[in-house]
Amino acid sequence: MSNFFSTGAGTNNGGNFFDGNQTKTPLNSQYNNLKDNYQQIFIEAAESIRKEVNKFKPENPCEKCTVKDCKIEKKDVFTPFPPNCAYREWQLKILTFLAGDYRQKLKTIHKTILEKRCDYSCARCAACCKLATSELSYAQLKQRAMRGDKFSADFVSVFVPYESEADAKKANPEYFELIENLMEDEKVYYYYCPKLDGNTCTIYENRPDICKDFPYNPLKLLPSTCSFNGWKDEVAHQSMLLKAKVDIIEFYKEKLG
Ligand code: SF4
Ligand code: SF4
Repeated sequence: MSNFFSTGAGTNNGGNFFDGNQTKTPLNSQYNNLKDNYQQIFIEAAESIRKEVNKFKPENPCEKCTVKDCKIEKKDVFTPFPPNCAYREWQLKILTFLAGDYRQKLKTIHKTILEKRCDYSCARCAACCKLATSELSYAQLKQRAMRGDKFSADFVSVFVPYESEADAKKANPEYFELIENLMEDEKVYYYYCPKLDGNTCTIYENRPDICKDFPYNPLKLLPSTCSFNGWKDEVAHQSMLLKAKVDIIEFYKEKLG
């Protein structure tokens, strides 16, 4: 759960205007709303996938079955069926469907969610430039960057680590404390961008993609001053449903593969 609701790392100080009507979303309520709703949404996602896969379920195949005396009573989707069984063919069709058409459908939903972000603009609060987080240390990020990971390369090209957690906390005490509480025993590393002057990005025109694309995941916690909280609220249900479906597909793959 901590990864799904984690703060993530990333930043942006770009944007076109300051939205004076923006309302602050307290960080604790952002997190609690997501967490409270997820269980129900997960059930909704599981039910929706179950309906889809049941469309392929064969009707009474045992009547003309060549596998004798299998003695399987419960014909559930996750039951281990023998190789020549019609229900096993059903399971293989499910895997093909989930990896093909269904995955494509989810990709389209993901694209729609990201497109809706364009309806919102950065408020230039600079909160994401002053306090970015990662579950990886600076040395680990640099290693990944050297191995070709673009996100890590972008990240270390922008951010440097805070010298101490006390310094990081000063940048945004509310955000810092919530991150610490959420991550519990997991180590979090705090970073800032030295390209920031006051609240202004000094390389705005040439800022890297992680700045341009921030926030790229509506399920990540955002600073309360971030104007993209509106986007996050708008797509919250859709995003959680998508996340649940992706997780459920992985479960099907593991069980039926
Ligand atoms: S380069 Fe630095 S200051 Fe500019 S948007 Fe990115 S994080 Fe913010
Ligand atoms: S926290 Fe949000 S509003 Fe503030 S600078 Fe970053 S992207 Fe813009």
